[in-house]
Amino acid sequence: MPEIIHEKWKCIGCYACESACPEFFKMKEENGSMKAQLQKATQTKVKEGILETRKITANEVKRAKEAESVCPVSCIHVKE
Ligand code: SF4
Repeated sequence: MPEIIHEKWKCIGCYACESACPEFFKMKEENGSMKAQLQKATQTKVKEGILETRKITANEVKRAKEAESVCPVSCIHVKE
């Protein structure tokens, strides 16, 4: 099953993913700075920070890749 992976600790809060794909990403204030939050995601603590993952359907891959392509720091990944 395809999935979206978000390396949240790399997010610079630019809003691009929320603008492109609000069905997947919403901005939220965390510790005084804005961060993208992958909606309906599973959060896992890894040594760098919080990793968010969400399983998606094959039909959602194209939209998810739009979010992946607009992120300036490449912290959104779509695994098919
Ligand atoms: S596009 Fe990337 S850097 Fe910008 S808010 Fe979304 S996850 Fe963060």
